[in-house]
This record gives sequence, structure tokens and C-alpha cells, in this order.
Amino acid sequence: MDAQERIIEQRKAKHKKTAFIIKCIIALIVLCIVVLAVILIKAGFIDGQVDETIRNTKSTLTGKSADHVAVSGEAVTEGSSETEGAPDHTQAALASAKLLAQQYDYDGAIALLEAESDFNTNTQFQNAVGSYREKKQNLKAYPAGQVTHIFFHSLIVDTSLAFDADEDADGYNQYMVTIREFNSIIQQMYDKGYVMISPHDMCTVNEDGTVTAKDIYLPDGKIPFVLSQDDVSYYHYMDGDGFAQKLIVDENGEIKNTYAEADGTVRTGDYDLVPLVDDFVREHPDFSYHGHKGVIALTGYEGVLGYRTDEVYKTREAGRVTEYQQKFFDNNPDFDFDSEAAQAKQVADAMKAEGWEFASHTWGHIDPVNAGYDKVVTDTERYKTWMEPIIGPTDILIFAFGADIGDWQNYSSDNQLFTYYKSQGFNIFCNVDSSRTNWVQFGDNYMRQARRNIDGYSMSHRADSLSDLFNVSEAWDSSRPQVPDL
Ligand SMILES: [Zn+2]
Repeated sequence: MDAQERIIEQRKAKHKKTAFIIKCIIALIVLCIVVLAVILIKAGFIDGQVDETIRNTKSTLTGKSADHVAVSGEAVTEGSSETEGAPDHTQAALASAKLLAQQYDYDGAIALLEAESDFNTNTQFQNAVGSYREKKQNLKAYPAGQVTHIFFHSLIVDTSLAFDADEDADGYNQYMVTIREFNSIIQQMYDKGYVMISPHDMCTVNEDGTVTAKDIYLPDGKIPFVLSQDDVSYYHYMDGDGFAQKLIVDENGEIKNTYAEADGTVRTGDYDLVPLVDDFVREHPDFSYHGHKGVIALTGYEGVLGYRTDEVYKTREAGRVTEYQQKFFDNNPDFDFDSEAAQAKQVADAMKAEGWEFASHTWGHIDPVNAGYDKVVTDTERYKTWMEPIIGPTDILIFAFGADIGDWQNYSSDNQLFTYYKSQGFNIFCNVDSSRTNWVQFGDNYMRQARRNIDGYSMSHRADSLSDLFNVSEAWDSSRPQVPDL
């Protein structure tokens, strides 16, 4: 190798060295980017943000911690396209207002934004308020007198246990709906434009005791309806027949059921109407008018909501303890009445916060006319003493057996049972009449509404009469045997 060759070789080596260093630097940069991306994903700045939005939206829907709500898609169009980078409180307020507006409470949404201290300088708030005012102007008044009311009993979780041909199977088949059927019914009603309202959206109870009709304001095409569920007591006789055990508040503050599998495993989940509707409204907020949900009609003789809170569970008075109750005491030697009542109250409070209301279904599931005045008074006193401290006061009376305390004509002041119930604070009365789509009556000092039973019997024997609500053949659970005549 001569000198020149050596120089060329040295230059080549130098080039190689430089190229190697450059390659190293590039590799290092790529590595840094990858590491940074991994850290960001792990810290939740990319994927995690979506979860955060869902979590926050969920907590607004359940009425909790509305202060830290991220703005999801629609709120941006609702308010302004410049939400990104806006201060947290702006996003939180817009999201809360959006939920109110989705549930047709435009006044509430406007008031919420106008109460923000920087409303006068915040164009996002002002734009949102403008759009809500416009939407409110397009609402149509729906007369209370035309509102339909449907009701269910406890939902069947396991059809193989409910329809097992024991002595209760025919009754479950006639009077109950399965979870599969219920989910289809609610989805179909939502698709038709039905919106769940409270009976209190239909009337105003004035201070002097008079009751006046009130319109419901909804967008064109939306149809208000009242939902109720009877006998949410999880009676002892239903044990082991494929129904939920009780309602509870889970670790996220959501209302759920417990359900015992055949092998004894107790699960927590959506095993009855209340948590199913709560979940549905979380996904479809516009199914609920102003956040209102259904009316839960309760008896008290075996407690409420699956809790054994009646007097007899406290006193264990020999003459009053039924066979079922004795079996319950035998199976639950550690039963503590006070903690049972405290848990029931916690669930009832959480349900009210979620938009549910309670009604008396009479303490003893009585037909007042058959029972007579004296028994009605005793029954109501038991309701006041053992149920009201848990569920709180209610002015709704949902008669058991679809009974009533008068015929179709107005209740009159010489109707002793009406006068008594009115004196006990009841203003809204419900019977059952599935022969028409709706029946509402306003007296001077009460509202009365007929309800339509949604159950195996009505679905199999009167499917056509339900066609304004849903298509029975689409909802029908194929595991349901032929429904016997009543
Ligand atoms: Zn009942």
C-alpha cells in the first residue's frame, strides 16, 4: 500500500466513523420517541383520556362530581368549537348544561350557565345558552291527560327456575316479564321516541291541597310515558325462583341487585328493572325527562327493596310471624334489624338521588274497599311507621290488585276512603286499566291515572293493544312457555 492508498483508506475509515455516529444519534432519537410514547400512553395522556371522558360523563349522569367533567363530542357542537384548551370549569359547566339539555331541561341548562361568574365574558357559555333558547322555543306542549302509564313486576333473571312448573310458575308466566323481554321493550320504546316522566311532571300540587294539570314540554315526535314497578319487595316466596334478592348500592355508588346462582354464588349486577333503566339512561340520557325515572310501588309486610324492615322482623311477635319469616330467621341467625333498616334507607336515598320515586302500594297489599275503613287506617299507620322512615314521604298511592276506591266518576268528598287517603297526604292515585292507551282524571284535589300491565298475559293475550309501545313478537322470550288463561 503506497502513501496515497493509505490516505484514501484513512478517509474511508473516517467516513465510516462519521456515518456510524450519525446512525447512533438517529437510533437514539427514535428510541427516545418510543420511550416517551410508552410513558405517555401509560400515564393516560392518549388512550386514557377517552376513559377519563367516559368516566366523567358517567359521574355527571349519576349526579356526582360534576366539577371535573371533560367535554365530550356533542357538548362542543352545543357550545362552541373552541372548547379545547378552555379552562376546566368552562368544560365542566358546559358538560353539566349539556346533560340537562339532553333531558329537555333547557331552563336548567341556561340557568346553570348564566350562574357562572364569567358568563358575561365567556362566549362559549353565551353560544350554548343561545342554542338552548332556540331548542326550548321548538318544544311542544304535551297534555298530561294523554300520558300513558305502564308497569312491570320483578323481572325474571333465570327462566328455567321461574318456569319450572312448580306452584308459582303459572303466576310468574302471567304477571312477570323476563330481563330479555324488558331490554327489548325499553329499546323499542326509546326508538319510537318515548321519554320517561314522573307523575309529578303531569300535575302541580298546590299549597291549598288542590291539584292542577301541567303540560310536558318535549321536542316534536317525543312521547312522554310513566313507568312503574310493583311489589319491589323481593318477597320470600320468590326465593330460588330465578329473581334478584335485593337492591344495593355498589362501590361506585350505582344501584345494583344481588342475585344468588343455583350453586349459592351471590353476584352483583343488573338483575332487575332499576339498574337496567339506570344503565339505559346512562347510555341514552334523552330517555329521561329532567332526569326523572320510574315510580317504585312498595308494600311493607315483608319489608322494602329486599330488606326485612317490617315491624314483625323486629318484634318477632308469635302470632304474626309467617312460615316464610320463621324460615328466614332460622337461616339468618345473625340478622340485625337496625342495620337492615339502615341499609334499606341508604339504598332508598341513592335511588331518589338517581331520579326514582316511591309510592305506597299499601302496606299489606290490600284492596281498600274489600278491607274496609278500619283496616285501611291500620294498614296506613303501618305504612307510616315502618315504611315512610325508609323511603321518605310520598303522595302517590298505587292500588294493589289494580283496585280502586271509586268507579270512573270523580272521587267525591263523601268518599270516606278518598277523604282519608287525601288527609294522609296522597294526591296521585293509580289503578289498572289496559283497555285503552291512556286514562287520566283530574279532580279538584287529586290526579288519577290508569296503568297498563306489561306482563306475560298482556303480551300473549292482548299483543295488539301494546303495539303503540312495542312489537311483542320482537320482545318475546322464546324460553317462556305458553301463557295460561287467568
Ligand atoms: Zn302488587
